[in-house]
Amino acid sequence: MSTGKLIDLGGNRVPEAEEAASRLALPRFEPGWVWLVGAGPGDPGLLTLHALNALRQADVVVYDALVDETVLQFANPRARLEYSGKRGGKPGPKQRDISAKLVELARAGKRVLRLKGGDPFVFGRGGEEALALVDAGIPFRLVPGVTAGIGGLGYAGIPVTHRDTNHAVTFITGHMAGGDVPEHLDWPSIARGSPVIVLYMALSHLSRIADLLIANGRAAHEPVALVRNATLKDQQVLETTLGSAAADVAAANFTAPAIIVIGEVVKLRDGLDWLGALEGRVLKRDPLNLRAKKDVG
Ligand code: SAH
Repeated sequence: MSTGKLIDLGGNRVPEAEEAASRLALPRFEPGWVWLVGAGPGDPGLLTLHALNALRQADVVVYDALVDETVLQFANPRARLEYSGKRGGKPGPKQRDISAKLVELARAGKRVLRLKGGDPFVFGRGGEEALALVDAGIPFRLVPGVTAGIGGLGYAGIPVTHRDTNHAVTFITGHMAGGDVPEHLDWPSIARGSPVIVLYMALSHLSRIADLLIANGRAAHEPVALVRNATLKDQQVLETTLGSAAADVAAANFTAPAIIVIGEVVKLRDGLDWLGALEGRVLKRDPLNLRAKKDVG
C-alpha cells in the first residue's frame, strides 16, 4: 500500500482514503496556505474529493451559514471549526473581518480551510476573499463546488438546460450587497436574454422581481419552481407560476435558503423527479407533451 506521501491525514487516518488520495495525487495542505473550498449545496455526498482532502488536513475550518453541519463531520478531529455566518438574525462578521481573519490564521502558519456553500465563485464572495489573500501575499488554492443553481435544481428533477426548452440560462442574484432589489440590472435584457432564469438569494424580493420580469415581457403563467434546502433531507419544492409565485410563497410560509428557477424546464420535473420516484411518484414519460404536439403537426 502506498504510504500517504502526498498527504498527511493527521489524527484522522483512514488507510483506504489515504491510499485513494495518494493514487489520485491529491495535494498536500501546506501550513500558511488558505484553501477556498466549495462544500456543495448540502448533501455530503456532493463534496468533491478535493474538499474531503482539504477537510482531512485543515487545522482551522472557517465555514459559512450555508455549509451543512453534516459536512463538517469529515474535518480532522483536531481541526478548529469557526463559524463565520449570520445566525438568529444577528449580523455576522463583516466580509473585511473574515478576509482579515483568513490572512491572520495563514500568517500564524495554519492550514486554513475556508469552506463555503455551493461554489465559492458563484455569488459567494469567493473572489473577494481570494483577492484579499493575493493582496496579503498568502498562497491559496480554489476548489469549486456543486452550485445550488445547477445541482440543487437537479435534486428537484429540473435540468437547467434541455434541448427542447432552452439553449441558454441566466444566473441572477436577487439581493444586492445592501440587501436591495437589484433594480439597476438591465431587466429588459434579462427578460429577453434566455428562456431559463435562475435566481439566488431572491426569496424576499420575489414579488418585485416577478413584476419586473412580467413588465418586461415574460408571461405571468410561466412555470416557476422554488427549491428549499436543496439536496438536504428536508428539501421542499414549490411549483407555481411567475404571476402567483410571491403569493404562493407567502401562503406556504416558504423560507430561505431557496433557489428559484423560471422557465419551461420546470415542466420536466413531472418526468424527472427522481427523488420523488424513490418515494413512489410515477414519472411522466413525455412531460413536455412533445409527442402530442408532433401528432397534431
Ligand atoms: N455559492 C453558493 C451560493 C451562495 S448565495 C452556491 O454556489 O450555491 C446563497 C443562495 O444560494 C441562497 O440564498 C439560495 O438562493 C442558494 N442556495 C445555496 N444553497 C442552497 C440550498 N441547499 N438550497 C436552496 N438554495 C440554496
